[in-house]
Amino acid sequence: MNWTDEGIVLSAKPLAEKSIVLSLLTKENGLHKGVMRLTKRTGSVEPGNHVHAIWKSRLSAHLGTYTIEVNDTPIARIMTQSKCILLLKTITTLVDMLLPERHSYPIIYEYVKEICSSLHNLSDPLFDYARFEHLLIHEMGFGFDLSKCALCKKVTELVYLSPKSGRGACYTCGHPYKGKLFTYPWGFFDDTISIDKEQKNKRILEMLKITGFFLSEYAIKQVRASEKMPTIREQMLEAFN
Ligand SMILES: [Zn+2]
Repeated sequence: MNWTDEGIVLSAKPLAEKSIVLSLLTKENGLHKGVMRLTKRTGSVEPGNHVHAIWKSRLSAHLGTYTIEVNDTPIARIMTQSKCILLLKTITTLVDMLLPERHSYPIIYEYVKEICSSLHNLSDPLFDYARFEHLLIHEMGFGFDLSKCALCKKVTELVYLSPKSGRGACYTCGHPYKGKLFTYPWGFFDDTISIDKEQKNKRILEMLKITGFFLSEYAIKQVRASEKMPTIREQMLEAFN
């Protein structure tokens, strides 16, 4: 049993003196772990690295072994940008923690690959990070529904979101209950809406409040019931604000 694939390093945990358990988000095989022996020729296993991987195992159910060749080391380009390092590690930590193993998530894979490789010159990294969290919860099936107002069926300007039902509401329907609802930054991903920097930051924080809630209350509780949101996310958000 073996395969070759491309992947992104999520984590490398020590197993024995000269070996690690390497966790990769691969293109075809999803989140996949394997043992890797550390030798002088072992490439760098920094999170976010893009690698070509060969995985081998006698039985498919076994942990198996990895041999990798490093194609790109994005973290090397952001060595002086500590905020971006935290951002990259928050992404790899959440993916490593939440995605089920050996199940392909091509949309998440492509997005994580893109954000890691371009982090050194993103104009607004936190916006792209919010898009990542939004994508992650939706791809995992814990997303929210903003196709129409839960009460009057209006389809635009849904400026509230219910944390309980995950459904959107328009201003008129939602306003009387606003204390129990999230303010939703309607049009968040619409690049044609022109807003100033301050407004944009406010909307990013509104979105992250929502995605953070859905990650903690739904994704993490379901997938890793004994765990909480990794603290690195909070450190990263503090660094950006
Ligand atoms: Zn309504």
